[in-house]
Amino acid sequence: MSWEKKLNESICSIDELKKYIKISPIEEIKLKEVVRMHPMKMTKYYLSLINKEDKDDPIRRLIVPSLDELNLCGTYDTSGERENTKTVGLQHKYKQTALILSTSQCAAYCRFCFRKRMVGLPNHEILTRFDNAVDYIKNHKEINNVLISGGDSLVLPTKTIEFFLEKISQLKHIDFIRFGSRIPVVFPERILEDNSLTDLLKKYSQKKRLFVVTHFNHPREITEKSTLAIDKLIESKIIVNNQTVLLKGVNDDSRILSELQSKLVKIGVNPYYIFQCRPVKRVKHHFQVPLYKCIKIVEDAKKELNGHAKRFRYIMSHKSGKIEILGIKDKEIYFKYHQAKNPEKIGKIFTRKLDKTSGWLDELKK
Ligand code: SF4
Repeated sequence: MSWEKKLNESICSIDELKKYIKISPIEEIKLKEVVRMHPMKMTKYYLSLINKEDKDDPIRRLIVPSLDELNLCGTYDTSGERENTKTVGLQHKYKQTALILSTSQCAAYCRFCFRKRMVGLPNHEILTRFDNAVDYIKNHKEINNVLISGGDSLVLPTKTIEFFLEKISQLKHIDFIRFGSRIPVVFPERILEDNSLTDLLKKYSQKKRLFVVTHFNHPREITEKSTLAIDKLIESKIIVNNQTVLLKGVNDDSRILSELQSKLVKIGVNPYYIFQCRPVKRVKHHFQVPLYKCIKIVEDAKKELNGHAKRFRYIMSHKSGKIEILGIKDKEIYFKYHQAKNPEKIGKIFTRKLDKTSGWLDELKK
């Protein structure tokens, strides 16, 4: 069966989900309300990773809609993506990087997604004319890398990915191209059962260095199949980096976080970022952990890790830039700009008063 057909067999409604997971009649009504706002989708493979007996199973939390999504605290665009948009589907926030929103589709809709406002939904932020994006990049020689994200860039047909690679790899000032994708985690069959994708990536990696930035959040996502998918990417000359979001009830435990980072290194994936969960509407209440707790979790996890496994930075992806969360001293939280919309801020260290409830910079007092 082709990967497209297999993907079409995904579970996309509460009625279908009921066949696999126990849902009470009251819950069912409310969850249908959630899914009307933010679609659900999970591959059969990812569904098989859920412990159906455990209502609090971390994999279940990541993918099964929750009544907590009815809580509306937070906002939909926490990183100022609209104001960084230069042409439809292209954002330019940091000098050297162009970000392309190539699709609003994913193989699975993660309940914690910070682009919840658009994934699986009709919207005006997704790329419509690739040539306009290429023209913008051509005219901005300070850009040396392109991140093709979405949605999930690897759900696109291989032919479309080829079209992107062909155009971008002709630009001399581009050093490398990244694909943002959770495919290795939620739908490894896309990589394992379609040689045309890895053949294509291998071919273009002769022209530009290619990366896949993937997104493992829990050690149980590292399975035999996902490991084989990573192997196949590496054999195709792709460098694989991982970003994890620190999420309540999923990985807000130093042992789980350290186990995840160690296992990633073991399968050849580089730990890149750990992100503070953003205050996204229908996500914040459900998943965000206060900063003071997260700092301890990250530091305790680091105590268990070798140098390679703790190369990640713990980051808050804020409207103003990527802010590294350095730690706590004398009742103050220390931050440092790792990347910034205003380049003059890069490297600046600053503090905010520690409190026990805040999960985001804007909530902390100076
Ligand atoms: S695959 Fe990525 S973009 Fe898609 S829902 Fe999950 S986190 Fe969001």
